[in-house]
Amino acid sequence: MYSLLAEIVGPENVSREDFELWCYSRDAGSVFPRLPECIVTPKSKEQVAEILKVANEYKKPVIPRGAGSSMCGAPVPLKGGVMLDLTGLKRIKIQDEEGLFVRAEAGVIWTEIIEVLKQRGREIGLEGPWSAPSATAGGSVAVGAICMGAAKYGGLGTQILGLEVALADGSIVRTGSAANRNNEMVMRDCNGADLTGLSIGSHGTLGIITEVSLKTYAFHEAEAYYAYSFESLEDAARAVYGLARDEIAFDCRMFVYPVPEEIGGVAGVVYMLKGSGSQIQELGGKSRKIMQLAHGKSISEFGEQYYKGRFTARVKAFGEAGPGWLEVAGYIPILRYPAVAKEIIKYWKKREEEAKNLGIKWSLGALLETHSINIPVAIFCSEVKRDAWQRINSYWHELAELMYERGVSPYWIGHLSSHIVKRWGPYYQLYKKIKESLDPNNILNPGML
Ligand SMILES: Cc1cc2nc3c(=O)[nH]c(=O)nc-3n(C[C@H](O)[C@H](O)[C@H](O)COP(=O)(O)OP(=O)(O)OC[C@H]3O[C@@H](n4cnc5c(N)ncnc54)[C@H](O)[C@@H]3O)c2cc1C
Repeated sequence: MYSLLAEIVGPENVSREDFELWCYSRDAGSVFPRLPECIVTPKSKEQVAEILKVANEYKKPVIPRGAGSSMCGAPVPLKGGVMLDLTGLKRIKIQDEEGLFVRAEAGVIWTEIIEVLKQRGREIGLEGPWSAPSATAGGSVAVGAICMGAAKYGGLGTQILGLEVALADGSIVRTGSAANRNNEMVMRDCNGADLTGLSIGSHGTLGIITEVSLKTYAFHEAEAYYAYSFESLEDAARAVYGLARDEIAFDCRMFVYPVPEEIGGVAGVVYMLKGSGSQIQELGGKSRKIMQLAHGKSISEFGEQYYKGRFTARVKAFGEAGPGWLEVAGYIPILRYPAVAKEIIKYWKKREEEAKNLGIKWSLGALLETHSINIPVAIFCSEVKRDAWQRINSYWHELAELMYERGVSPYWIGHLSSHIVKRWGPYYQLYKKIKESLDPNNILNPGML
C-alpha cells in the first residue's frame, strides 16, 4: 500500500520516518500520543480522492489533519493508519471580480485568507479561531471552531456557502448550489437537504473537506474595544446577555478565573465592536448603558490591549501557563452561565491542594455566540511531570461529566469525549447510521464515535 500511495503523491510526499511519525502523533492538546503508520501529503483534491480509494480497498484508517492545533485529540491516530496531511492544499480562489465570496482549499490558514481579502478591501465575517495564524480552513470547519466574531455571526457554519468533500470511496461531492456542475459555491441552502452541515463539526469522520467557500464583506472602517469589571457572576452574565439581546458586539469574552489583574473584581467582560464610524459610536453608547445597568466598572485600556493582540496573545499566554494543555468547552444559554461556573469553581476548590502540589493551573472564561455562551475550562501542566499529565487527563473527564450533566453541549468531540458521545441517544444512533452508510469500512478517523 505504501508504494501505491507514493505513486499517487510522489515519494517525496510520503514518509515512514520515525521522527516524522512522532510529530504527527498528537495535536496541541495534552492527549497521550499514538503513532500513525505513514504520513501522506497530497497537493490536490484528485490526489486526496486517489488516496482514499487505496485506503478503502486496504481498509486502512485515514486520519485527516490540518495544522494539528486542536486540543481534544481529534487527529490522534487511535488505530494507526495513514495520516493525511492536508496543508499541501493551499490555493485561495477569488471567483468574481469584487470577491463577494472566497474559496479556500482545506490547508489554507485563516490569516492568509484575511490578508488576501484585505488587499481587495474585503474581509470574512469570522476571523477564524484564536489560533488563526496556524489553524486551517478545513480543520476548523471539521471541528466547528468557535471563531473571533462569534458574538455577531455565531457558528462557523453561518459563513459557509458550500464545501467540496472527498468521501471514503474516493468520490468528490460539492454541496449546496455547487451540486449543479454549472454553478459556483454561492448558496448553502439549495438543491435539497443541507449536506454542507454534515461536514461541519464532523471531526474527519464522514469525509475529507478539500475546499471551503466563505461569504465576504466590505472591510470595516473602524473598531472599538471595551473592558469592564464586575463584582458578581450574575452581573457579568447579565451584561453579556444585554450585548447579545441588542446584537451589539462583534466579539465578547468573559474572564472568571483568573480575572486579569488589570480588570480585577469577580469577573471581567471584554468586547469589541466593528463597523462604520457612526455605527461604532451608536453601538458604543448602547453598550455602555448595558454595562452600567449591570454595575460594570470600565477598564478601557485593557480591552484595547487584549483585542489588538488577538492573533498572538493567546498562544503566548497558554504556552507560558502550560505548555501542556487540555480544554473542556461547550454551549449553554447565557443566563445559566453563573450556576454552571459556580459548580466548576467548587470542583476546583476541592482539588486546590492537589493541583498546587502537581503544578497544575486552570482557567475559566466564556465566549459569546449570538444566542448562547461557550464555557471553556482550560487545564495546564508541564508534561515533563508524568503524574501531573495523567491527572489533567482525569480532571478533564470529570469536568466533561460535570458540565455535560448540567446541560453543557460539547462542540469538540475529540477522542476524550467518546464516553459522552454515546449518551446522545437517538442523535448518536443517527450519526452512526450516516457514518456506516458513507464509510462502511470505517476508515475515516476510526475510534472517534
Ligand atoms: C493557541 C490556540 C488557540 C486556539 N483557539 C481556538 C479558538 O478560539 N476556537 C476554537 O474553536 N479552537 C481554538 N483552538 C483549537 C484549534 O486551533 C482550532 O479548533 C482549529 O480550528 C483546528 O484547526 P486545525 O487545522 O489545526 O485542525 P486539526 O487539529 O488538524 O484537526 C482537527 C480535526 O479535524 C479533522 N480534520 C482536519 N482537517 C480536515 C479536513 N480537511 N477534512 C476533514 N477533517 C479534517 C481532524 O481529523 C481532526 O479531527 C486553539 C488552539 C490553540 C493552540
